[in-house]
Amino acid sequence: MNNNGEQQTAAAGSDKIFDHVASSLLPTKHGEFRIHVYQPVGETVEHVAIVKGDLKDQERVLVRVHSECLTGDVLGSMRCDCGEQLDAALKRIADAGQGVVVYLRGHEGRGIGLANKIKAYQLQDQGRDTVEANLDLGLPVDIRDYEVAAHVLRHLGVKSIRLMTNNPRKMQKLADYGVLIAERVPMLTAHTPHNIAYLRTKQEKLGHMLDFE
Ligand SMILES: [Zn+2]
Repeated sequence: MNNNGEQQTAAAGSDKIFDHVASSLLPTKHGEFRIHVYQPVGETVEHVAIVKGDLKDQERVLVRVHSECLTGDVLGSMRCDCGEQLDAALKRIADAGQGVVVYLRGHEGRGIGLANKIKAYQLQDQGRDTVEANLDLGLPVDIRDYEVAAHVLRHLGVKSIRLMTNNPRKMQKLADYGVLIAERVPMLTAHTPHNIAYLRTKQEKLGHMLDFE
């Protein structure tokens, strides 16, 4: 660490370097957190960690690895459950008094970008599902990478995590990058007439562990 509390390290099993570029207190409606900004060297994208408590050498830390979703997180869109999951994760972490949300930028539409996500919505308006729409656009179904999340958890000193997710692919990817997952914490969000088809597709085609009962 240098005098600014900044550190430059490489994620295990990778040559990619991430800089810890800024950090401050962040009061929220869920209480006080600390925000950290990380940037892959040579890229402009800025990833964020919202941290509660000192996580150094901690085990079974409550963690949400959240993919940026402007429409869901910021605008309250009901086409997906992102905003609700983000809010629930922050609340759970606040209640536990410890944990982190790693907020990954550039993950819109499972990695295809905002404009393509909106194009996919247009196809969904015409009856395609969330997976078919990506394929119709000639785009992959999911190109999200989780290397920076593994790096952030290591930088914060986290030993093992309780991961808040329904997504088995995310668990596998994080484990591949060396993250020790002690437990999966299901994220149950309410289904609505607007998101039920989307959630069912995530369950049936992407293997998400959802329960509609
Ligand atoms: Zn979303």
